[in-house]
Amino acid sequence: MRTALPRRALLAAAALAPLSAPRRASAQTQGHLLVIGGGFGGATAAGFARKRYPWLQVTLVEPRTRFVTCPYGNLVIGGLRQIGDITHGYDGLRARGVTVLHDWATGIDAASRQVRLAGGQTLSYDKLILSPGIALRYGAVEGYDEAASERMPHAWVPGDGAQTLLLRRMLEEMPDGGVVGLAIPANPFRCPPGPYERISMIASYLKRQKPRSKILALDAKDAFSKQPLFQDAWNELYPGIIEWVPANRDGRVVRVDPRERVLETEFGEKHRVAVANVIPPQSAARIATEAGLTDNTGWVPVNPRTFEARAAQHIHVVGDANIPGPMPKSGYVANTTAKQAVAAAAAALRGEPVPEAVYYNTCYSHVGEGYGISVVNIYRPNTEGTAIAEVPNAGGVSPRGQNPEQRRLEAIYADAWYESITKDMFA
Ligand SMILES: Cc1cc2nc3c(=O)[nH]c(=O)nc-3n(C[C@H](O)[C@H](O)[C@H](O)COP(=O)(O)OP(=O)(O)OC[C@H]3O[C@@H](n4cnc5c(N)ncnc54)[C@H](O)[C@@H]3O)c2cc1C
Repeated sequence: MRTALPRRALLAAAALAPLSAPRRASAQTQGHLLVIGGGFGGATAAGFARKRYPWLQVTLVEPRTRFVTCPYGNLVIGGLRQIGDITHGYDGLRARGVTVLHDWATGIDAASRQVRLAGGQTLSYDKLILSPGIALRYGAVEGYDEAASERMPHAWVPGDGAQTLLLRRMLEEMPDGGVVGLAIPANPFRCPPGPYERISMIASYLKRQKPRSKILALDAKDAFSKQPLFQDAWNELYPGIIEWVPANRDGRVVRVDPRERVLETEFGEKHRVAVANVIPPQSAARIATEAGLTDNTGWVPVNPRTFEARAAQHIHVVGDANIPGPMPKSGYVANTTAKQAVAAAAAALRGEPVPEAVYYNTCYSHVGEGYGISVVNIYRPNTEGTAIAEVPNAGGVSPRGQNPEQRRLEAIYADAWYESITKDMFA
């Protein structure tokens, strides 16, 4: 068991002494856990580490002072929530003893265990938790770059909330009768049911406010998460409003013209729409790629028990940036795996065995007001510890068939899920 201050932390502290942020473990602590990214994975990791392992010194690096969640962003777009309802701050984590630095990490030196920040600081770590989320692959759809996202919002990486609000405003300004076009990527991408919840929330707004309008959802795949439940609900709640076009019916958007708001598909069909929501293909966020942690898929391979990157020791990559096996890229998975990654990092610092791992996911989707559906799964590393596998017969999905009471309860459970996971993340 480690009782003394790690040598690395002492050396780093000496080298970095003039800087203001804490950079080394104090006499009471036995290791410095540095966390990059204050979203679902990172905020969870930082708060959990201080609560469960108070002997750890924890620093969180996140550029934004307020975090706008993706979950419930679709409800803001549909007019059922305000942006303030999904915006959170870091005071709770500070109160728990996390040092929160609002800055960008610009580089990771895995060999010397140091991270450079845009503001000029260099931080040393004993263990690094990296949860920087995704990068949008601008250019993967021809014509869709960052400038295009101002005319055709993605609203898939909320940042300060501007993209979510832009899409909302475009819907509000659209004349009744206008067509809303969505371009949906192939797997894997952040939040598999997210585009279909978005379609539902936009449809609910159109039904209330613009009954002559329609949705054209162009998809780069032929099947999607909770598909029968979504499609049953669309027939029940929004008949005639939603047209979903799978890849095998020329749904894959390959080119866009942002000026004319045209979505062009693989076989050359051009759809001119009044509002376009383009969700481009994705990869792990830039910091992970630049640190050499990704493979040729664009995502980070990790050890299924510890989430340590295959390409670098002492760097645990959680959240959407990693390759999660059969688990979806969800906030819930980011939360549950962040805790395991912290537990594994803490165990390694103390020379103890890695705790048994079990991962949970519940994905709720709002399909209408007071109408929710969900899917639940439980996962474990396989016995060899080489991959993650779903635990058979441990999950479930909302039953099909019209059942208003079940749907109403699931919408309430979804609200409770959001409340509890954001409290858990932001302490
Ligand atoms: C519309 C939509 C709806 C969704 N709904 C649900 C849902 O209902 N349930 C669910 O479980 N999941 C949902 N998700 C998925 C969920 O949002 C993601 O899976 C989750 O955010 C992933 O967590 P993360 O920590 O990987 O990334 P994020 O939560 O995005 O956090 C990443 C953080 O890292 C920071 N960062 C990036 N680069 C750097 C850097 N270089 N230096 C410092 N900080 C950096 C970013 O600023 C950001 O704050 C939804 C997603 C979308 C798009």
